[in-house]
Amino acid sequence: MKKNVRKAVIAGNWKMNKTPAEAIELIDAIKPLVKDADCDVVVGVPYVCIPAAVEAVKGSNIKVSAENVHWAESGAFTGEISVPMLKAVGAEYVIIGHSERRQYFGETDETVNLRTKAALAGGLKVILCVGELLAEREQGITFETVSKQIKIDLAGVSAEDVKNNVIVAYEPVWAIGTGKTATSDQAEEVNAYIRTVIAGLYGEEVAEGTTIQYGGSMNAANADELLSKVNVDGGLIGGASLKANDFAAIVAAASK
Ligand code: PEP
Repeated sequence: MKKNVRKAVIAGNWKMNKTPAEAIELIDAIKPLVKDADCDVVVGVPYVCIPAAVEAVKGSNIKVSAENVHWAESGAFTGEISVPMLKAVGAEYVIIGHSERRQYFGETDETVNLRTKAALAGGLKVILCVGELLAEREQGITFETVSKQIKIDLAGVSAEDVKNNVIVAYEPVWAIGTGKTATSDQAEEVNAYIRTVIAGLYGEEVAEGTTIQYGGSMNAANADELLSKVNVDGGLIGGASLKANDFAAIVAAASK
């Protein structure tokens, strides 16, 4: 990593895995392994695990994230969870716009934008996921795709929030859970491009201060190489975040 540029953020996305008891077990295993991390460490856990996870991380350097949030404060939205609910149980971050939400649950850039604005207004930090489908990469429209996502997803979000409270996670959809990692050059190319899009919207200073992660089959073996790139400010980690040693190895790579 190059900590002189921006502090890295390594965030796990556990997806639909772990019961509360299993969450405590995994966090207890991760805690001693990452206690000297020189990067921020976040675990994104299922809603029902948040209270147990918040209790388990007490006194450590690990923060807890939700994996989604609704934009309304309350109301007739069966099955949904609001920002005040997440705040009440101690979540500090929320992952928004993950490709699985976009792909399987009808998430659009418009709803990602509503969720992002509500989360920020309510005091949560946002990990905003963007990334192209395999077909979009093959059609040569990766840049257009992520540019459109960033512009719509961040519409109405202040420069201050983008710099301090938003982490952008570039996650090429073809690399998520597939074992196919983007090469470090591919990750760097798109992360650098995303920074230019943010610069166009908010100016150079905000763009230089914004954390832009890579996500997509990052693991203990490839983290060093990916994180060595100047525009890769950490990672959003799915599968490897469920194994304490693998997650800790990525945190160690980001702490170098
Ligand atoms: C993710 O779910 O955000 C992700 C990057 O998953 P994986 O690391 O398993 O590809």
